[in-house]
Amino acid sequence: MRKFTELPLSEEVLAGISKAGYTECTDVQERVLPLTLEGRDVMVQSKTGSGKTAVFLITILEKYALNSSSAALIVSPTRELAVQIEEDARILASGYPDFRIGCFYGGVGYKEQMEELKSGLNLYVGTPGRLLDFAKSSKIDFRCFDTVVLDEADRMFDMGFYPDIQTMFSRMVSPKERQTMLFSATLSTRVRNLAWKYMNDAEEITVQPEEITVKNITQELFHVSKDEKFGLLLSILSKINPVSCLIFTNTKDKAVEVAKRLQMNGYKAEYLMGDMPQSKRLKTIDRMKEGKLPMLVATDVAARGLQIDDLELVVNYDIPEDFESYVHRIGRTARAGKSGKAITLACEEYIYGLEPIERYIQMKIPVLWPDEAGLVSVEDKSAGFKYKSPSRRPSSHTVHKDSKKPQKNARKSAVRKGESAPVRKGEDYDKLSKMSLEERMAYYKKEYGGVSSADRKKAPIQKKPQQKPAQSPKRTEKSSMQPKEVKVVKKGIFSRILDKLRGR
Ligand code: ADP
Ligand code: MG
Repeated sequence: MRKFTELPLSEEVLAGISKAGYTECTDVQERVLPLTLEGRDVMVQSKTGSGKTAVFLITILEKYALNSSSAALIVSPTRELAVQIEEDARILASGYPDFRIGCFYGGVGYKEQMEELKSGLNLYVGTPGRLLDFAKSSKIDFRCFDTVVLDEADRMFDMGFYPDIQTMFSRMVSPKERQTMLFSATLSTRVRNLAWKYMNDAEEITVQPEEITVKNITQELFHVSKDEKFGLLLSILSKINPVSCLIFTNTKDKAVEVAKRLQMNGYKAEYLMGDMPQSKRLKTIDRMKEGKLPMLVATDVAARGLQIDDLELVVNYDIPEDFESYVHRIGRTARAGKSGKAITLACEEYIYGLEPIERYIQMKIPVLWPDEAGLVSVEDKSAGFKYKSPSRRPSSHTVHKDSKKPQKNARKSAVRKGESAPVRKGEDYDKLSKMSLEERMAYYKKEYGGVSSADRKKAPIQKKPQQKPAQSPKRTEKSSMQPKEVKVVKKGIFSRILDKLRGR
């Protein structure tokens, strides 16, 4: 791997890189930096945790080295990611005391951010909504940017943000007069096609596409009934006793409920949601990063881009409804080549999301059974506790406030943003809810072309033609959980039916 000192970088930038503790380039840095340092536009797809941030930050800093009046814009889909980028930028820019950085996101007052804008900045980091607010009130002139970065680009071209992105680009100088860079862990053909017109002959770079799922992550999956999920989570936590753990749910209410139930069971757990006050969200994230908070329950939107080093365990309490979210979620662990573990709980409510995920990651997530995994049942001090937000109307769900999506797509939008999203309501939810579990399993099999648990081990994996990469499926290493002679968690009806289906 190339050392940063072998790249044509200025001393000040190298000082920042060494302050960040980097010596050798990661794959994506080695591949992309030579192009971006030449001023090329790029569309970069590289897995979560591979070091994309430094690519665009170093590029921006080198441009500043040549021209101290240059101005760059980095757009991020979430506040957390914007803050993270700002933090990384401050470290990498430490060799340039005069390099001015501002961070702009919603959910907090305008006043402080307005102060930052007064004297002009070299780097503007922010979320689309707030950046546009400042543009509309003429506090930010998008024509000043000679460098534009869209981080987590797949999200930025998501329907919720797309109108904002279009507006932003329409306010900028033409693609030929600026350098435009797109970065994402996944870049769909749709995004590439949409992005093309905003770019100037962009080089498309895909780094290690076969690793859609980070290979150092041990993935495991438990089939469990909805009612037994929390009990299983307690058993898993008591077995693994993780130093740090991030738990994902599909709805906000569930995040609150799981966090509260964990607290009742003596765990130091908190929840994180998109609509919490900004200061509280940032404080919670900081406490997690500092190791003061071992457990965090979050929805996708809240955890997007959230970076916690040395995260030991990710639990998908709910299978995400958007298959790409699975990769983003489990990518929170095993960052920068470290190993980690991701456990997914598959219940009847969200199991339909499993087949698309497995097609996407091109592997079957190894299934474990509580007894094989040596799990013991743990007393649940929160048994029966349910949480439902009083403000939430029963038949609707909150759509992210940045979203400008038409109503008919509200469910999908909500799902993509990790907000409360009822399961396929109005589609086949009613039908499903009336089915017996056995009927439901048969339905999933038919609908999603899946294989029964019995066939899982030998089944070849179906490939969706448009989803690259064409790599043979990889298995993760075997579970680290060793079977033990202990009292097992009682299997629920759902597990027993699955047993039957797989001929146990
Ligand atoms: P991505 O945006 O691709 O998901 P990040 O840019 O957030 O990944 O980087 C992931 C982690 O790797 C961060 O903690 C970052 O500090 C670290 N990192 C990035 N580049 C290097 C490097 N060259 N050497 C060591 N660590 C690095
Ligand atoms: Mg990133």
